[in-house]
Amino acid sequence: MADIIQLLPDHVANQIAAGEVVQRPASVVKELLENAIDAGSTTIKLIIKDAGKTLVQIIDDGKGMSVTDARLSFERHATSKIRNAEDLFQLNTKGFRGEALASIAAIAHVELKTKQEQDEVGTSIVIKGSDIASQNVVVTPKGTSISVKNLFFNIPARRNFLKSNTVELRHIIDEFQRVALAHPDIGFVMYNNGSESFNLPISNYRQRIVNIFGNKTNEKLVPVEEDTEVLKISGFVGKPEFAKKARGEQYFFVNDRFIKSAYLNHAIGSAFEGLLKSGTHASYFLNLTVNPQTIDINIHPTKTEIKFDDEHTLYALLRSAVKHSLGQFNIAPVLDFERDSNLDTPYNYTQTKVSTPSVEVDRSFNPFKEESSFGVSNSQPKQTSYKKESTASWEGLYVGLESKGTQDLDDFSEVQFESEETTASIFSDDKQAEQIHTTYQLHNKYIVSTIKSGMLVMDQHRAHQRVLYEDFLKNITVKNTVSQQLLFPLVLHFTTQEVTIIQELKDDLESTGFIFLDFNAESIEIAGVPVNVPESEVSIILEQLISDVENEVPDSHFSATDLLAKSMAKSLAIKTGQSLEKDEQEHLVNKLFACKEPNVSPTNRTTFITMSVDELDKKFI
Ligand code: ADP
Ligand code: MG
Repeated sequence: MADIIQLLPDHVANQIAAGEVVQRPASVVKELLENAIDAGSTTIKLIIKDAGKTLVQIIDDGKGMSVTDARLSFERHATSKIRNAEDLFQLNTKGFRGEALASIAAIAHVELKTKQEQDEVGTSIVIKGSDIASQNVVVTPKGTSISVKNLFFNIPARRNFLKSNTVELRHIIDEFQRVALAHPDIGFVMYNNGSESFNLPISNYRQRIVNIFGNKTNEKLVPVEEDTEVLKISGFVGKPEFAKKARGEQYFFVNDRFIKSAYLNHAIGSAFEGLLKSGTHASYFLNLTVNPQTIDINIHPTKTEIKFDDEHTLYALLRSAVKHSLGQFNIAPVLDFERDSNLDTPYNYTQTKVSTPSVEVDRSFNPFKEESSFGVSNSQPKQTSYKKESTASWEGLYVGLESKGTQDLDDFSEVQFESEETTASIFSDDKQAEQIHTTYQLHNKYIVSTIKSGMLVMDQHRAHQRVLYEDFLKNITVKNTVSQQLLFPLVLHFTTQEVTIIQELKDDLESTGFIFLDFNAESIEIAGVPVNVPESEVSIILEQLISDVENEVPDSHFSATDLLAKSMAKSLAIKTGQSLEKDEQEHLVNKLFACKEPNVSPTNRTTFITMSVDELDKKFI
């Protein structure tokens, strides 16, 4: 048989390699920024068009390349950064594989202009899909400019696979911020579609963080410094009271390289133990400097993971450094051994008889009523639309609870949409109906209800999420919600990126009842909120929303709407631990079974289970 093995042509090999190096426009941004840094630049400009799908350009003022180097830089395994395998353990540069430019040139139109300081003129090279289209002598300033156009032009499948511009741009901004945070000694400017998004002058580290995340960040930072033989730590952690639901602002840099490490993240978490509200995450911006020989950054192609020789020691050092800072800046609670004598019981009181303090309680006050009625059953019941869709899924559970006839059933489906008062009156003279409505709250968590075949146990939090979720989705589509005007506009502070997220969801948020007055760089002014959303909850709702969007980056309008509905439902749903009155329990049961998909919560968790009398019987054998 003839020989069948062939060496792949270079451009094919490059395209394959590109699959690893370049996943999306943000990967190009990362590689080119890193090259510019390795070239010793002091100012780096990033220019983006259409979220990098049309153009990613980086202009630096670094050392530039000679004619030969300019040409060679696009060859695979062409690098000036290592010469032999030992160099891998002494890395002081970002790049070393010599693959980035070759890979990028294989899947895009690339224009390079570069000049070294001592040269009179520079070199310009144009490459399209690994083919050199032209090479010329040009007049160009010292440094390098690389434009990458029409990414994935020759791999339509990859191009189609790219997400919306919003998503791709967010990835680019993430990369840009990571690189910029690691190098406050370099100035960075970023333009997106012709307008300046970031202008970060050379500064100290604190100022760099503030320039990226907004002025409000300054007061939130607690410095962390530690210098030991194995590890130098410097940077900041966020004060616990500013901890957010989003994990967004968590940055580790090891020898100026952004890395992800669940293990080290855990060290920070444990340093913050007891200081954070549950579900929130502290932010941190920490630079670790270690001997390059003790790490291996080679284990991940995109190089955000890293292997340390001695992780346990790093963990312990990091944890104690952060703990120390929190303590030093009076953030961790300190035991107060100096007793304040004013708080002691005066002697003349010791013989006095103690009477139980009495508390006046307004028993008719029911905070839940307002909340549950939010989007659930409001003043003007528009519930008729539920009627048709409601019966099918759940009626099987209740049908003909013994002697009930169809007529009564109709009544029942009607009833669930009336106000509580009417419900009560309709059922009061009907013994059988009362039985339908027997509910009981278990551990302030579950609602137990009798059904035809036995019993039903419902998770109150998940059930209410489902109810609210469907209501929000409907409101967003129908756009007929009522807002509650605020007496004074509410000003909420966010980072620029967070403001953008809210701005993207503006239309949908307005459909739920929000009224926005103004979007500023770092704040949002709100004039109205959905009916029955307490003003105090608004910032929590929006923070939750931002966190959800960041964690689940929606890639279409449809999924953004869905996410909004889910997120708001999550924030506003009755919590586990909340005690409910009988009528509230019943109302929730009814509302759940009026939903299109009562069986699962918006995040696909079971909302209720049933247990038949048969099953119970078996347990009693
Ligand atoms: P690596 O960075 O791993 O060496 P690249 O493909 O990214 O591989 O770059 C190849 C070589 O091209 C680099 O080693 C460097 O010598 C040169 N180079 C790339 N970008 C620049 C730049 N902006 N300024 C100067 N030299 C550059
Ligand atoms: Mg490189």
